Amino acid sequence: MAKEKGLISPEDFAQLQQYMEYSTKKVSDVLKLFEDGDMNRFCQEDVIGYVGFEHFLKLYLEVDEVPHHLCWSLFWSFHASQSLEMTKSRGNVICLSDVSCYFSLLEGGRPEDKLEFTFKLYDSDRNGILDSSEVERIIHQMIRVAEYLDWDVSELRPILQEMMKEIDYDGSGSVSLAEWVRAGATTVPLLVLLGVDMTLKDDGVHMWRPKRFPRPVYCNLCELSIGLGKQGLSCNLCKYTVHDHCAMKAQPCEVSTYAKSRKDIGVSDPTPGSFPRCQPLVSVFIPSHTRPLPDKALPFSPKVQSHVWVRGGCDSGRCDRCQKKIRIYHSLTGLHCVWCHLEIHDDCLQAVGTECDCGPLRDHILPPSSIYPRVLASVPDRKLKTADDASLSTIDALRIDPVSNTHPLLVFVNPKSGGKQGQRVLWKFQYMLNPRQVYNLKNGPEQGLKFFRDVPQFRVLVCGGDGTVGWILESIDKANFPVVPPVAVLPLGTGNDLARCLRWGRGYEGENLGKILKDIETSKVVYLDRWLLEVTLQGNEKSDPVPSQIINNYFSIGVDASIAHQFHVMREKYPEKFNSRMKNKLWYLEFATSETIFSTCKKLEESLTVEICGKPLDLSDLSLEGIAVLNIPSTHGGSNLWGDIRRPQGDTSSINQALGSTAKIITDPDILKTSVPDMSDKRLEVVGIEGAIEMGQIYTKLKNAGHRLAKCSEITFRTTKTLPMQIDGEPWMQAPCTIKITYKNQMPMLMGPAPNSNNFFGFWS
Ligand SMILES: [Zn+2]
Ligand SMILES: [Zn+2]
Ligand SMILES: [Zn+2]
Ligand SMILES: [Zn+2]
Repeated sequence: MAKEKGLISPEDFAQLQQYMEYSTKKVSDVLKLFEDGDMNRFCQEDVIGYVGFEHFLKLYLEVDEVPHHLCWSLFWSFHASQSLEMTKSRGNVICLSDVSCYFSLLEGGRPEDKLEFTFKLYDSDRNGILDSSEVERIIHQMIRVAEYLDWDVSELRPILQEMMKEIDYDGSGSVSLAEWVRAGATTVPLLVLLGVDMTLKDDGVHMWRPKRFPRPVYCNLCELSIGLGKQGLSCNLCKYTVHDHCAMKAQPCEVSTYAKSRKDIGVSDPTPGSFPRCQPLVSVFIPSHTRPLPDKALPFSPKVQSHVWVRGGCDSGRCDRCQKKIRIYHSLTGLHCVWCHLEIHDDCLQAVGTECDCGPLRDHILPPSSIYPRVLASVPDRKLKTADDASLSTIDALRIDPVSNTHPLLVFVNPKSGGKQGQRVLWKFQYMLNPRQVYNLKNGPEQGLKFFRDVPQFRVLVCGGDGTVGWILESIDKANFPVVPPVAVLPLGTGNDLARCLRWGRGYEGENLGKILKDIETSKVVYLDRWLLEVTLQGNEKSDPVPSQIINNYFSIGVDASIAHQFHVMREKYPEKFNSRMKNKLWYLEFATSETIFSTCKKLEESLTVEICGKPLDLSDLSLEGIAVLNIPSTHGGSNLWGDIRRPQGDTSSINQALGSTAKIITDPDILKTSVPDMSDKRLEVVGIEGAIEMGQIYTKLKNAGHRLAKCSEITFRTTKTLPMQIDGEPWMQAPCTIKITYKNQMPMLMGPAPNSNNFFGFWS
């Protein structure tokens, strides 16, 4: 029997949502079966009993067996919101329409739908408002969820009570649906507190991955050897390592990614002694003069982070305390800290002390004491947003308050870039930093950007190809940050022209990530111009969609959209996209090269006119087969179409100043001869390409330059026939049109240290 009628436990809620994630069924599919399909026999005038409900769940969640307690507690929670008369007249049944209404709200996936779902669940008399006894039940449920999340609940009840008072916007003594939804979107993380959003429950759970070990390793649970070359499971976050068969009995993961109590975040407790629980992760200095204070001014005291030791995992084999070898004699030996990554002898533990400074990467790390549940923070913060700017995206449950003078790194990894390299990089960063700083781009960048929005001085690291970088820059641009964070690049895969120009290399090949993070620390901000490409079709010929409206790297028309090469690059870059659509497109384009590119692009000037900053560019003396517009001095994976410049010392803009080439528009060949490309001068370099052979030589690095035509800040192309084009390496066929390229804005990027600079830090192996 459900002990508390109408309340679904957080565990059940989490389980239900997991099932829903895996199921492909929609409520409407199942509803049909009950209304006039196979399941009709369980349904009488919109009413089903327990057995019918069980069938409903099985079909809806696509499982053979629904856990009994889940089915039971769901049934009774629906039953609790039934009218008394109904129970009297029909017995223990529930309304099918209620069930489907609730579930379809939950499957809607939008935060406001989910908020409505919870509202309906707790509005037990279904009068459209939550009265005081219903609100009491909600608070009760929130506390159960907080317990489930391991939060310190002793401090939560008064906060929740006050919060529920705030939700009653018009002070009527009861909460309407509108007030509820507004609160969920502006002030209170209702979805988390009611267990609908369970993303916070990751703490304490190991992130296993299968691993083979090149040296003897011992199981953290049974302490027996995991044979050399045999496979075991290793937690990605804490390096706790076990036999496959020991994983079920493993101790919980020691990596706690956020603080769960006020004292863990340095808020001194108004009533000392009310925290019976000991948090092993963070010990906090509480000043002795602490006394009860009004709620609105919670004092913050210095946060002190403790080491979190896990046995074994001493990969370096040397003790960071005494510098002697850590010998592994037939047993689990040594300790490593999951935050600062110190590796020490068991005997050196005393000497090391308890305080953890997060080690050499502290500038990038968000220690758990810097992330905490918003509801546990001081009251004024919950008023951060006003009802007027309610975007209904629901606020983050967690809040970041970084260690002062650090630059928390927000990492995005495209796991599909660079073969398996992407996945490996993701794992490594999850270990090196707080896993809450590292985002897999298969879920998009929005969540990470939102979470970091108000963090002062944060930096972004994008791990992927140029396409991924362009995507993140566009997302950052759209996010309208108060201060735009600078972006560093860890290039994965091939191509990577932008990363190359920013000195992050041509492609990651397993180098020391610790060193790369140290390089980011010393990197400097440069601004990258971004350009807007507007295409207006002439006539009504069909055309491929334009792959992007923004140019970060380069744009070209004609022979340079050299198709066979693109085919090659694309196959390396997006092997998974090489099924139907992309494949067809590229095969088609490859055709175009081999058979018709010569005739398509021959005498390009006859089907194309160019205007720079409003003036026509004279192409009559040239026989061009392609024109390229460059924002950065690298294309096609390292060719420089502008050509080398014997450049004097100094920064680019002062060189150009000295050479007299700072004009908005330059066409004089003598000035162009010495002009240096610059990614932040709000100008583009325009280059002509004389033929396919020349282009071939440029690709194969036999030749490094085209024919310099101009430098300018605005370009218009008009074409009279379909021509191959490409933008940042993405090719397409474009019907006759007008193309206008104008300056959009600049984004701050991080430029790696000069190649010869000697700043190696041997912290990492
Ligand atoms: Zn773990
Ligand atoms: Zn074992
Ligand atoms: Zn430590
Ligand atoms: Zn030692």
